[in-house]
Amino acid sequence: MATVIGTPLSPSAVRVLLLGSGELGKEVTIALQRFGVEVIAVDRYADAPAHQVAHHAEVIDMTDAAQVRAVIDKHRPHYVLPEIEAIATEALEDVEKEGVAEVIPSAKAVSATLDRERIRRLADEELGLPTSPYLFAGSLEEMRRAVEAIGYPCVVKPVMSSSGKGQSVLYGPGDVDAAWESARTGARVNNDRVIIEGFVDFDYEITLLTVRAVDPATGALATYFCDPIGHRQVAGDYVESWQPQPMSEIAYGTARSVAARIATAMGNGGTSGRGVFGVELFVKGDEVYFSEVSPRPHDTGLVTMASQRLSEFELHARAVLGLPVDTSAVSPGASAVVYGRHDAEGIKFAGVAQALADPAVDLRLFGKPESFARRRMGVVLAVGPDTETARQRATRAAELVQPLLADAEEPSAPPTIGQETVAIPRPDAPPRPVHPGPPPRRPHPGPPQPPPGRPGPGRPGPAGPAGPRPSAPPPPPPPGPRPPA
Ligand code: AMP
Repeated sequence: MATVIGTPLSPSAVRVLLLGSGELGKEVTIALQRFGVEVIAVDRYADAPAHQVAHHAEVIDMTDAAQVRAVIDKHRPHYVLPEIEAIATEALEDVEKEGVAEVIPSAKAVSATLDRERIRRLADEELGLPTSPYLFAGSLEEMRRAVEAIGYPCVVKPVMSSSGKGQSVLYGPGDVDAAWESARTGARVNNDRVIIEGFVDFDYEITLLTVRAVDPATGALATYFCDPIGHRQVAGDYVESWQPQPMSEIAYGTARSVAARIATAMGNGGTSGRGVFGVELFVKGDEVYFSEVSPRPHDTGLVTMASQRLSEFELHARAVLGLPVDTSAVSPGASAVVYGRHDAEGIKFAGVAQALADPAVDLRLFGKPESFARRRMGVVLAVGPDTETARQRATRAAELVQPLLADAEEPSAPPTIGQETVAIPRPDAPPRPVHPGPPPRRPHPGPPQPPPGRPGPGRPGPAGPAGPRPSAPPPPPPPGPRPPA
């Protein structure tokens, strides 16, 4: 661990190499650069978000161990930060073993978390964390038996897959074949192995951002927690998040204990295993179930750019460098995703001024060169006196940001919310009063919903937190049976 920071682009530089250069990597890059760290951003395509702000940009196939090793050997970074899951982890294990660079949080954490079987066995068998009941299967026949043993409803996921991909909720034997096919086609790598999980009829789900960082008082690693983040998922993708998510004292205590145990298990002792972890938990009453952990900042944690003194990206940068952290909240906050809505390159965004006309709102556009209808292209951040107000502000502003095709005419009139035209305030105008917003919504997202026409998983499912909206609806989820969302 470097205890002194040098000058970037000079022999004294502290160098960090990011494997994965998306929007989370871009924010980590900016946070590192503020400490004068030299950053090498790597991704599989050119002009990825972090490429655009890093000192060096590299394009490689990150699933190819030789290419991962070659880019590390070329730049000789002090730290390697895997920012995505699809990475040839054997290269990271070698780099760590040979002492070429420190892998953050550790090579073991990166390989364990990309395989649902390894992380589930670690959580349950080694750490004794509460999880949903689960079994694994390597063939359709084996899966049929496992599904019968777990019971309905249950969730089937490829063991090698990113959030939501190839997942299905099964309500009866008639769903088994389709779930197997969907798992095989949605897997990240060609692997026939699936996990069958009991369906948790949770009240809400959270990400508990957990930081393993050096405690300046002792010089040893300590565990710090951010306030719990609530979020709403559609088709395995987060669409909005907020902080803090209210929890009972008992549930919050259990959540912290679960998160501390899994985060601590991600290191190899000493100061290994530093960084931010996104611990995903399901909460039902006072019961907490471990679901997953990301060994890096979490997408739902984008909200911390508005709600905390130090965002999860700044916390990660500090933890990596061995610096003290501070997880204090400054305000209730919320984030709402801006989707591309188009399959096209070089799209543009109208309505930005209108969205930012609310002084409680901020916006990040990631600068991704290519848009897809359901690709996350930006995020709106908002603060408020409470999370409900922040959520309303964030979702309203996200609706005002309009992705347009490159050759589209820009709208001449500002978009409207319901009957009201949103005025762009003149610099000398008094601050615009905050719009009263849509009707109050359910505070929690609720569990995944069954597809239309399906029996519910135990109780009549609410329609999610969003009440009727007076303006344009968010883009629809992709067609097909709805995975847990
Ligand atoms: P994952 O890919 O495991 O992160 O799952 C994506 C989303 O599906 C989660 O955020 C939950 O909303 C839902 N989900 C996953 N597993 C379960 C489960 N066992 N029970 C209920 N919902 C689930």
